[in-house]
Amino acid sequence: MTEFTTTVYYDDDADRSQIDDKTVAILGYGSQGHAHAQNLADSGVDVVVGLRADSSSRAAAREDGLRVATPVEAAAEADIVSVLVPDTVQPAVFEEIRDELEPGNTLQFAHGFNIHYNQIRPPEDVDVTLVAPKSPGHLVRRNYESGEGTPGLIAVYQDTTGDAKEEALAYAHGIGCTRAGVIQTSFREETETDLFGEQAVLCGGVTSLVKQGYETLVDAGYSPEMAYFECLNELKLIVDLMYEDGLGGMWHSVSDTAEFGGLTRGDRIVDEHSRERMEEVLEEVQDGTFAREWILENQAGRPSYSQLKEAEENHDIEEVGGRLRELFAWADDEDDTEKAEAP
Ligand code: NAD
Ligand code: MG
Ligand code: MG
Ligand code: MG
Ligand code: MG
Repeated sequence: MTEFTTTVYYDDDADRSQIDDKTVAILGYGSQGHAHAQNLADSGVDVVVGLRADSSSRAAAREDGLRVATPVEAAAEADIVSVLVPDTVQPAVFEEIRDELEPGNTLQFAHGFNIHYNQIRPPEDVDVTLVAPKSPGHLVRRNYESGEGTPGLIAVYQDTTGDAKEEALAYAHGIGCTRAGVIQTSFREETETDLFGEQAVLCGGVTSLVKQGYETLVDAGYSPEMAYFECLNELKLIVDLMYEDGLGGMWHSVSDTAEFGGLTRGDRIVDEHSRERMEEVLEEVQDGTFAREWILENQAGRPSYSQLKEAEENHDIEEVGGRLRELFAWADDEDDTEKAEAP
């Protein structure tokens, strides 16, 4: 077995007394917020959800049995303020609640963007930590309920109390992450690897690969339905195999023909030019170019973002896919995350 170069923490490494007598404010009740709030509450931690008076999430949080207050009230009451509103909204919410942070309190994040790129400058007398499940929030909740865990990361940016890391580990325990394992990282490493991963491989890279493959087949006269199945639908099966057993697990399960074809052709598709582009994209993440672009884009009312989103929504593969998914039973489930796990 290979040695981990990083330390992995499990349940036994967490000292729950670090959090059991504290109040945790969860600001935002979206993907991560609802999962952290409910998991912590079920773990016996005192939780208050901070939402604006006009937030549509208020009813949902109350229905889930949670106490709801405004972000300012919640932060005033809390020892740990977990900032789980969207990254672009966090600086404004922070300005609202900053005066409620008392010396020794903790300001906590699930992604390092605003701290790493200086969009939030926390007071010097609070702890600043990160507890980031490496998974969408709905799985964080579902895994907790089923007794499983969700792998996660912790990081400490500022430790004024001397127990910032222990408290973060206890929080990670409370949401179920230490059941699966928690890796210690830094705000910088979490932010840069997260942005690079979603841009180059996970969200950006993979959708471009799918669209280019689909268009190549359709332009050559093959039916859009065939192209959809081959280039998008089957991707899930391949990724599941890689997820379970690595690249080798996937190569083992596909035919020898697929293996030989893939091994001889794959590197011609994603080649040294793509690698150079990846390095450029990484540099833009590292030197702050991407962060600046995204911040300015938001200040300008998201003109490019809206345009790109619309073009993506109007791509032929979406129309074909929508029709096909209606016709096939595997996509019956309403819940996206359920769908993602269907065999
Ligand atoms: P989200 O988009 O699901 O929504 C967060 C919630 O914030 C909303 O449901 C709402 O309650 C509130 N909100 C939205 N707009 C608001 C506004 N203008 N003012 C005040 N409140 C508002 O957020 P998310 O995806 O859970 O992201 C929260 C944090 O978790 C981010 O830092 C993100 O990077 C991080 N994160 C997300 C995931 C994920 O899979 N979604 C995974 C790891 C880390
Ligand atoms: Mg503390
Ligand atoms: Mg990520
Ligand atoms: Mg991300
Ligand atoms: Mg095939």
